[in-house]
Amino acid sequence: MSNLRLCIQKGGRLSEKSLALLNQCGVAVANGGSLKAEARHYPMEVLFLRDDDIPQAVQDGVADAGILGENVALESGKDVEIVEKLGFGRCRLSLAVRREESYEDTTWFEGKRIATTYPRIVESYLKEKGVSAAIEKINGSVEIAPSIGLADGICDIVSTGSTLLSNGLKEVETIMRSESVLVKHKDLEPQKAKYLENLVFRIQSVLRASEFKYILLNAPNEALEGIMQELPGMNSPTILPLAKEGWSSLHSVIREDDFWERIGRLKDLGAEGILVCPIEKMIL
Ligand code: ATP
Ligand code: ZN
Repeated sequence: MSNLRLCIQKGGRLSEKSLALLNQCGVAVANGGSLKAEARHYPMEVLFLRDDDIPQAVQDGVADAGILGENVALESGKDVEIVEKLGFGRCRLSLAVRREESYEDTTWFEGKRIATTYPRIVESYLKEKGVSAAIEKINGSVEIAPSIGLADGICDIVSTGSTLLSNGLKEVETIMRSESVLVKHKDLEPQKAKYLENLVFRIQSVLRASEFKYILLNAPNEALEGIMQELPGMNSPTILPLAKEGWSSLHSVIREDDFWERIGRLKDLGAEGILVCPIEKMIL
């Protein structure tokens, strides 16, 4: 029976996090610098490729699935299916122009030249906006193109904006937001589809867990009602009596994103001895 073949980026921004995610899913993969590795504890082998080669490999069935930036998947134009967003490698693809330009809207780009590594994405964006511009595909150092007279504007990946700033550019439009995604071959054989489904189930449990924390606190019984309203956890919270008369211990889950605000309110409501712990997996 054939194993699932997953490709991940070799030696780039997404490599370590891809391996870490697999690890959290109980799939151990050694990154010994070779092109291929057998996973331990899972019927899978991992191929290490340049991210740009992943869409083709998955489309052609050389690999069954892959982890890469959504931007790269989209740009490739290959026929692969996005199965799951993975929450790391977040960035945006933006248009930028020289800082001194007075820019108002996308009509600025009419008749201009735009340098980018992402010609397809830029082209479809401009088409949607009804703007026609010349797109120059370049593979690296896109941000210097305007200063050397190669283009009037650029489209590139931005995460903090500091690269743009140091090249005298300003971000004027966000074309897309991207994060790493799991993609799969369109027509997987049933056994492989099962393996992938199981992997996706594990990934979802890990990702969900990272959105929540486990919380334990002590409170006087009369405060419990109000405290529970602040903790709309997965299920109803666990309440255990404390040795101290009239007090209970309450266990629940809390969302990571509004965590600090809620903690403040819980204290105001009378909660004490609050413990907050990470959750490793969350199975629904
Ligand atoms: P490869 O050698 O595999 O072709 P690369 O140089 O094309 O690598 P990386 O720089 O490793 O690619 O980036 C991989 C992906 O990480 C990008 O396609 C993007 O989805 C994501 N990413 C997140 N933040 C950033 C950032 N600040 N700059 C570049 N890419 C980022
Ligand atoms: Zn690349």
